[in-house]
Amino acid sequence: MHQSIINFTNIQNSIKENQEKTNNKNNIKIIAVSKTFEISHINPLVEYGHTDFGENKVQEAIEKWSDIKLKNQNLSLHLVGRLQSNKTKLALKIFDYIHSLDNEKLANKISEEQKKIDKKPKLFIQVNVGNEDQKSGVNPNKLKSFYKYCINKNLDVIGTMCLPPISEDPEKYFMRMNYLNKDLGLNELSMGMSADFISAIDNNATFIRVGSKIFGERKKKF
Ligand SMILES: *Cc1c(COP(=O)(O)O)cnc(C)c1O
Repeated sequence: MHQSIINFTNIQNSIKENQEKTNNKNNIKIIAVSKTFEISHINPLVEYGHTDFGENKVQEAIEKWSDIKLKNQNLSLHLVGRLQSNKTKLALKIFDYIHSLDNEKLANKISEEQKKIDKKPKLFIQVNVGNEDQKSGVNPNKLKSFYKYCINKNLDVIGTMCLPPISEDPEKYFMRMNYLNKDLGLNELSMGMSADFISAIDNNATFIRVGSKIFGERKKKF
């Protein structure tokens, strides 16, 4: 069996164990983040039947996934990286979910493009939960007004997403996100990566984004 499948089932098991221990009834989806890996390295997990995969670049996703998606209509592709508004049209061709909605220009563009193709991507608003200067995401105190803006644009916002500050314990940021997400009345929460997904699910994450713990270490730095 391919190592990625063994890793993946180990993650499933540890999530299940943790959910039993904490009486957590959430439906938790694992997004297998396959950025930088060749499709030959990803294919075993597709063939195993996993359906949710994540990429962080539009062009890379199109090159890698166009053919496979035609053959496997049940696959869902998640954009977990930044989206420049001029690439929106291209992004909507391949991605079913976008986790990085964080500005009005992009909201306008998605609204415009989704009308043309009559297919709405599911969206997460990215929140700059640690208020970091260099990081993408909506400032927490602007979240509510930005959410309203998106709803008025007929966008299908299903939840929020965050990348907590790298060098700190993520727990308090995950708690904050859980609070902010509930405050908006949203049910889906995209947070938790290879190193911290247990802490994320303890705080109601419903989509975790796991790369290296499934596919191995990446060569390129992202
Ligand atoms: C790469 C990436 C991940 C996965 O990271 P790992 O630490 O390899 O699990 C998750 N979310 C985003 C936004 C990423 O860019």
